[in-house]
Amino acid sequence: MTEAFRAAFGRPAEGVWHAPGRVNLIGEHTDYNDGFVLPFALSRGVSVAAARRDDGVLEVRSLQAPATVTAPVDGGTVVSENWPSDRAWAAYPVGVARVLREHGTGGASLLVDSDLPQGAGLSSSAALECATALALRDLYGVEIDRPALARLAQRAENEQVGMPCGLMDQSASLLCTHGHALMLDCRSELSAQVPFDPAASDMTLLVINTRASHTLTGGDYGRRRAECEEAAALLDVPALRDVKDLAAALGALPDPVLRRRVQHVVTENHRVEAAVGLLRAGALPELGAMLNASHLSLRDQFEISWPEADATVDAALRAGARGGRMVGGGFGGSVIVLTSTARAQQVRDAITAAYEKRSWTPPEFLEAPPSQGAHRVS
Ligand code: ADP
Ligand code: MG
Repeated sequence: MTEAFRAAFGRPAEGVWHAPGRVNLIGEHTDYNDGFVLPFALSRGVSVAAARRDDGVLEVRSLQAPATVTAPVDGGTVVSENWPSDRAWAAYPVGVARVLREHGTGGASLLVDSDLPQGAGLSSSAALECATALALRDLYGVEIDRPALARLAQRAENEQVGMPCGLMDQSASLLCTHGHALMLDCRSELSAQVPFDPAASDMTLLVINTRASHTLTGGDYGRRRAECEEAAALLDVPALRDVKDLAAALGALPDPVLRRRVQHVVTENHRVEAAVGLLRAGALPELGAMLNASHLSLRDQFEISWPEADATVDAALRAGARGGRMVGGGFGGSVIVLTSTARAQQVRDAITAAYEKRSWTPPEFLEAPPSQGAHRVS
């Protein structure tokens, strides 16, 4: 990275920072219901080589994007400036620099490199924001703790990029630690480390990109959110997280669709808590049952699964995996599968065969050991 930085900008980098992508182990569509999520950091992520500039300009170049982009760090919001599409990616680092500027950081030259697929639900956007945020914080010696930095990176994505995301991705990238998942309470924004080290139990967690794209169904996400809000209003609670008696809540809702949505959100929050309990008790393989229950709930109650995801989970279970579920917003994206390491190859082969049988594009497999959060590399 340092050589590439020198080649790009004609001067040495002051340091290199890395921020990982993430996968959410369990807790799907719970975040905007003020509930719990349990992400962990991937070994893949975004690296940034950086050096300060004293002219108040952020100059960014990515090995995964065509143009070098320069922008003043004291501008308004990127989203209001209507950048052309070849510059759009730079909204993430420039947005972070503009938000952090209020805390005393300034301009910099940044070279970005990544081994994380973009737009695959592994949160390359948060990794880019968090690597940038950590680099600027350290270069300017500003004291901002990691939870605060995560909120600032989230603010950059909300206000500067114009994407109304929650806090999970940035928290995972900045707060996760090796061999742990991060239990995040989306209401209090407090988090806790939970031991999660599949290799220590001779287990493997696979991430499978089903190659089904979800771009055409963005409206479904908004619809599910609206249904959850409507159900909470009918039940007279601030958010579905506050439903304490599921049977009573179901009895009070005449609409079968809303009943199914509530059933998913309430039971999914319990599954996150159960998963945390199992992990803390050292019963990692038992997590498989929670993943399976989550998948069925997302498929049948929340109704957001897709054929490739169902076939992936089904093939994995038939080949002896402990469990699996779709991850992300739904209708496309990735699946996670928990299997004994001894059976991992068998599971992969069975999934590949299931795709072949249906003439689908072969899936992509990624091993996902729970890894260290964002850090300075050199
Ligand atoms: P995800 O976060 O799931 O990968 P998003 O759509 O939220 O998907 O973020 C992807 C966007 O982040 C890309 O379209 C691009 O603008 C930006 N991005 C991520 N990684 C890089 C990179 N290495 N170089 C340039 N832009 C990147
Ligand atoms: Mg993203």
